Amino acid sequence: MSTTIARPEKREKLYEGKAKILYATSAPDLMIQYFKDDATAFNAKKKGTIVEKGIVNNRISSALFKLLEENGIRTHFVERLSDREMLCKRLSIIPLEVVVRNVVAGSLAKRMGLPEGETLPWPILEFYYKRDDLDDPPINDDHALVFKLCTAEELETIRREACKVNELLTKFLDPRGIRLVDFKLEFGRGTGRWQGQVLLGDEITPDGCRFWDKATNEKLDKDRFRRDLGKIEESYHEVERRICGA
Ligand code: 5GP
Repeated sequence: MSTTIARPEKREKLYEGKAKILYATSAPDLMIQYFKDDATAFNAKKKGTIVEKGIVNNRISSALFKLLEENGIRTHFVERLSDREMLCKRLSIIPLEVVVRNVVAGSLAKRMGLPEGETLPWPILEFYYKRDDLDDPPINDDHALVFKLCTAEELETIRREACKVNELLTKFLDPRGIRLVDFKLEFGRGTGRWQGQVLLGDEITPDGCRFWDKATNEKLDKDRFRRDLGKIEESYHEVERRICGA
């Protein structure tokens, strides 16, 4: 059941990250995410701009969060306010990067000494400690619990929700000609009206997901920027067209 949430006023800047700026609002439990065109890779060792990325990513992320909400996933998404702004529930982020993989690619290919492209017999869930100063090292459940990054109950919710998100996104993207290779999620603890809930946060865009064309395996995501493959803007727009029907 969805209840209408009143639009608050935009207030001071809280935080500026690599791809987004977060603003406080007149409602203490809501914030505004502003999507920038800046692109970084390899923990900001490579920097650039992808023209209109912020607008495209806001549209893609809004469409995917809406889909997930409609299918029972609790997320921070409230509504898309403008080209680059999204109204979100304010979270205290759990410092885990949750990666779900369906296909061998990226750091998994490197770690296992395998070529990219093989579909896994079942999805792999990985955790990384969200610490830029340490280059986000891989960790497991025990690290997360021993170092109190989250509670056992939160970890169970995160695992369950990440698997559900994978199923929902895969099912949605397949008929749109997109192979969901892998993606990164972040979760947080709600505040105010959402106190006590673990919610899916951050964004779901080609910046943090590997999207391959289903027919040709052509990369339609940030790997085009990371690996200097060209046609970056065209690929982001193509994903937007397939997801949002733009
Ligand atoms: P890999 O570990 O293969 O480099 O990345 C796995 C997946 O998680 C890819 O879809 C990648 O885009 C995403 N990912 C991993 N770390 C980050 C990160 O720090 N930022 C973003 N935007 N995505 C990430």
